[in-house]
Amino acid sequence: MKKTIVIGAGFGGLALAIRLQAAGTPVTLLEQRDKPGGRAYVYQDQGFTFDAGPTVITDPSAIEELFTLAGKQMKDYVDLLPVTPFYRLCWESGKVLDYDNDQARLESQITRFNPRDVEGYRRFLDYSRAVFKEGYLKLGTVPFLSFRDMLRAGPQLARLQAWRSVYSMVSSFIEDEHLRQAFSFHSLLVGGNPFATSSIYTLIHALEREWGVWFPRGGTGALVQGLVRLFQDLGGELELNAQVKRLDATGDRINAVELTDGRRFDASAVASNADVVHTYEKLLGHHPRGAARAATLKRKRMSNSLFVLYFGLNYHHRQLAHHTVCFGPRYRELIDEIFNHNALAEDFSLYLHSPCTTDPSLAPPGCASYYVLAPVPHLGTADLDWTQEAPRLRERIFDYLEQHYMPGLRQQLVTHRMFTPFDFRDELGAYQGSAFSVEPILTQSAWFRPHNRDERIANLYLVGAGTHPGAGVPGVIGSAKATASLMLKDLAS
Ligand SMILES: Cc1cc2nc3c(=O)[nH]c(=O)nc-3n(C[C@H](O)[C@H](O)[C@H](O)COP(=O)(O)OP(=O)(O)OC[C@H]3O[C@@H](n4cnc5c(N)ncnc54)[C@H](O)[C@@H]3O)c2cc1C
Repeated sequence: MKKTIVIGAGFGGLALAIRLQAAGTPVTLLEQRDKPGGRAYVYQDQGFTFDAGPTVITDPSAIEELFTLAGKQMKDYVDLLPVTPFYRLCWESGKVLDYDNDQARLESQITRFNPRDVEGYRRFLDYSRAVFKEGYLKLGTVPFLSFRDMLRAGPQLARLQAWRSVYSMVSSFIEDEHLRQAFSFHSLLVGGNPFATSSIYTLIHALEREWGVWFPRGGTGALVQGLVRLFQDLGGELELNAQVKRLDATGDRINAVELTDGRRFDASAVASNADVVHTYEKLLGHHPRGAARAATLKRKRMSNSLFVLYFGLNYHHRQLAHHTVCFGPRYRELIDEIFNHNALAEDFSLYLHSPCTTDPSLAPPGCASYYVLAPVPHLGTADLDWTQEAPRLRERIFDYLEQHYMPGLRQQLVTHRMFTPFDFRDELGAYQGSAFSVEPILTQSAWFRPHNRDERIANLYLVGAGTHPGAGVPGVIGSAKATASLMLKDLAS
């Protein structure tokens, strides 16, 4: 029997597969790796558990919706733990901001930076909430298939000054440079340069304030496992080690999916959660539509890459918050180099993940798991040899952490591993090794982003970071809702 095929078990692919299966459409989910999760893969080394990617879980309501629409309860599958503070933001000057949902505490901290910014912050929060309502609640889960859809959203986007950058908008409310960084760095979490990305992305601040920041007990991998279990409980089939090689088409319809191991799955419809360039160039390159679309997509700007260093210590640094952003000496200049320069900067800003702060079960007793990441240029911006660069950058980052945040780190080190732009390219098929797919600038957002359904091949759909609305766990789960609505309508007609 012909089935609906979803290629890739990232959060987007999983959420789509659940929605389809829950609606009575049988799905086979094909994942090339030995574990599901995609960017949310899990490494287990010497008793340490390392979540590979997403760690800041926001909008639990979008996750819960997947369970309720399937007639299940989220609490039977996943336990989400609140994280407080949301983030600890640290600067080399010694200044620290613990950012969370307590308005009074936040305002008293803002006062320490600049008393005048309390009022500015309140106005920024109002703005962020307005954008959240328009950009996330109204438009985040509906597909933009025609330019008319874009025109309809135009007046609101204009009213919210969506042409301005995140940083410029934050700066219109807030004077202090530390605070400007604190309220503009969020777009980096979805691959957006705060100096170029539309101010629409300030909605992330309101989204965090609305629903909080969460961490699944057992790590993000436990959330992935919970979604897999939900999908399988609904009767869905997940095939691991199933790398798709080619989409077979007759005319402008896909009728089967071929795997590298020779297996073949007949398909009534196909949704790809794989990288968008990979989908068109590698899987559909033999079809005129695939070749043409890949050429167009390759001209788009891709978001930055990341260097990620996972490490386990025989010591728990209890002084650390769960999420720490370690701002380096430069902000604007560093970000400019990451997005536009053909070299690796001398300095860095880091995100440090200390999951054992919330859940000590992720490491052996007395030990703790960590990861630290540095945004770096993708391979199209800086054609670096990461086999050479990675060990050097690892040493620089360990030195820095030992000096500023984690005394004794090297002596406490039990195990470590790295993930570089080469791995994004080779393990995940990410074009130019981008960590977040197509860069979320205004001219590549909504209708301008690759659409949730292909314009020519009517039974080919996209889901995940490369399509609308974009990267980040809430984004790709939202993309699944947009894509599922199209697929279910098409399948019913
Ligand atoms: C280090 C890191 C930290 C992050 N932190 C956060 C965070 O804290 N919060 C947040 O909200 N977001 C975060 N993000 C972003 C978020 O993780 C991603 O945007 C999101 O997980 C991407 O999901 P996706 O559905 O697009 O697919 P992906 O996770 O990219 O999964 C795609 C899947 O498709 C599979 N695939 C590809 N090609 C084929 C093929 N030919 N055949 C079969 N399978 C194939 C891949 O193996 C992969 O499993 C982070 C990203 C990274 C890299």
